[in-house]
Amino acid sequence: MRELKVYNTLTRRKETFVPVTPGQVKMYVCGITPYNHSHMGNARPFVTWDVIKRYLEHLGYEVTHIQNFTDVDDKIINAANGEGVTWDTISNRYIASYFEVMDALHIHRADKYPRVSEHMPEIIHMVQTLIDKGYAYVIDHDVYYSVEKFADYGKLSGRSLDDMMAGARIEVDDRKHNPMDFALWKGAKPGEPSWDSPWGPGRPGWHIECSAMSNKYLGDTFDFHGGGSDLIFPHHENEIAQSEAYTGKKPMVKYWLHNGFITINSEKMSKSLNNFFLVKDVLEHYSPDALRYFLISNHYRSPLDFSDERLEEMTRSLERLGTSIDNVLELLAMPAGAKSDTSAQLLADAKKIEEDFEEAMCDDFNTALASAAMFELARKVNIYKDAVLNKNVPVDSSVVSEVKRIFKTMTDILGILEDRWNGNKGEASNKDYNDLMDLILEVRQECRAQKQYALADAIRDKLAALGITVEDSPQGARWKK
Ligand SMILES: [Zn+2]
Repeated sequence: MRELKVYNTLTRRKETFVPVTPGQVKMYVCGITPYNHSHMGNARPFVTWDVIKRYLEHLGYEVTHIQNFTDVDDKIINAANGEGVTWDTISNRYIASYFEVMDALHIHRADKYPRVSEHMPEIIHMVQTLIDKGYAYVIDHDVYYSVEKFADYGKLSGRSLDDMMAGARIEVDDRKHNPMDFALWKGAKPGEPSWDSPWGPGRPGWHIECSAMSNKYLGDTFDFHGGGSDLIFPHHENEIAQSEAYTGKKPMVKYWLHNGFITINSEKMSKSLNNFFLVKDVLEHYSPDALRYFLISNHYRSPLDFSDERLEEMTRSLERLGTSIDNVLELLAMPAGAKSDTSAQLLADAKKIEEDFEEAMCDDFNTALASAAMFELARKVNIYKDAVLNKNVPVDSSVVSEVKRIFKTMTDILGILEDRWNGNKGEASNKDYNDLMDLILEVRQECRAQKQYALADAIRDKLAALGITVEDSPQGARWKK
């Protein structure tokens, strides 16, 4: 297997990736708190991790991907109280919205999306164990983690306890042993959802869920943990403190990867600046591919600046790439001819570019350099097609097939222009697609009504060749892709 280097926040350097179990990758990505529609800052880590996962699978790893939903949280409770609905009405609504936009962005789903509300026994067990081991203490109906008890506290963010206290905004709470101690369990307050526990009814603090769920699904030590760089402290620092104290083993995670921020017209995205974009709103103006391509246009650790100009530039770049894909498909449809130096040169160039692409991806998933390589291949394809059309160069279909394999591997890893390879040029919206399928099924139904069964079957078979299954039932025909 190719050597993969990743920048590890824990060690602050690039390291060669060595999986905990050969051939397997276990990764945990911090998910959203579903109290609103997903915003651009949410989309970046999920697209980043989707590309990382696709690349790891391309390298031959079997990947297990776990991503949580923080469905018990102050913001959800506030939103529920504001609307006069239950907390799970809010979380279910925005979880559905999350899937809608992330599916549109072609993000492959995680193996599991555990929710806090469904993991109370695991969370309570972990908190109790931390108390038993002397890492946590109970005050009234709250439980706090004692940061001074964990000698490695600060190893991820690279700060000492003193530095943290100097820089942090700490709520004054005289009951805590140390101001940096954080809540593992909060006693119930009126108007809040609560669960029974040995310390009375209450709910978990924020950090404990990721420790409990990653341990349950991925074990004591796993390969990757990801999230935005804003999660390094305190969230991920606290996860390490909880998990390593709980298991008595370290490291909890071998490689910690964090993505950079999104700025908007060079200003940090925030609600107060009113430049807080929701993904669904951006998708009303730009295609999912353009947005996805924008999100991976910089290296994931670098900041990324959102602007209309940039999104328009991405749309144009994708169109150029799409035209090259069309050229590959058109070349394959032409009559095959003899070998030539021009074809041999294309093959040699494509192999070299494939190597450049792999090298970029193996260097801490450098999608910016990788896509530069992909564009170089697109350019070579266009030059070749021009030679075929205007210089009588015969089409070497074995070379073009190999170029197609290389090119498609690249677009598949980056997760863009998937439909283009099926000859679908325009980006049809889901609605267009559904309407068109309804029309086709209606025509087919009419064929059956007129006993033209051969034609009806031919329509079904042609759809099957496109990956669309039609099932006839007494209620009529249904389809799925
Ligand atoms: Zn988390």
